Amino acid sequence: MRARRLAVDLDGVVWEGERIIWENVEGLRQLLEMGLEVRFITNNSTRRPSEYARRLKELGIPVDAGYVVTSARAAAAWTRAKGMLRVMVIGEDGLREEMREAGHELVEEGAEAVVVGLDRRACYERLSRAAGEVRRGALFVATNRDPTLPSREGFIAGAGALVAFIEAAAGRPPDFVAGKPNPWMLRVAFGAGAGDVMVVGDRVETDVRLAMNAGAAASLVLTGADRELGERERRRLEKMGVLVVEDLRALARRLRP
Ligand SMILES: [Mg+2]
Repeated sequence: MRARRLAVDLDGVVWEGERIIWENVEGLRQLLEMGLEVRFITNNSTRRPSEYARRLKELGIPVDAGYVVTSARAAAAWTRAKGMLRVMVIGEDGLREEMREAGHELVEEGAEAVVVGLDRRACYERLSRAAGEVRRGALFVATNRDPTLPSREGFIAGAGALVAFIEAAAGRPPDFVAGKPNPWMLRVAFGAGAGDVMVVGDRVETDVRLAMNAGAAASLVLTGADRELGERERRRLEKMGVLVVEDLRALARRLRP
């Protein structure tokens, strides 16, 4: 299998909540030593790329913030490309900071775009107002539509649940969903097309689908969400050309020339 560039997922691959997945960290170091160009992509919009980069560095993986693309950064790259100025944000610091850095003014009314990500302090009143802005004609942008996400406490509702609230109240779906499985994530990560890119992740629904949508190669790592993958499903994926591996050390072995 040929791949020069890897787009590696974080949750379920490098860590799962607080737990570090050390066999994958070791595999990542091997992949970097092999000279592969590695970028990290995550649908989590609550933290900044610089925070992820710091955490990765602590694990001995040399990266800077520009190597990490969150769905918040991808959304900000899009609203900036669209020339938006006034933006209403439903989201946490990770999203608010990316929007500010993109040059947007954060407003509560008269928005040109409403950008929605995970906000664990979301309140009815602001969500309702955001839906009103969309009804009025503001662009409706979502960081991602993941319905749930893993956390220390187990299951929690994801950004997709808040997007669904606004969609229902505004009467229309988002105009743009920035995160996985939108190939836009790879554009933001690598600048150009998806040639010789392999997407590496733990979820069929987001990571493998992203690869399919982008025409990129895919590797499913059985250390996270889809670790209980059945034999039949595994064969189905392998038939589609997906490289299914136990961990990233196994991926390094498979990609070694
Ligand atoms: Mg994941």
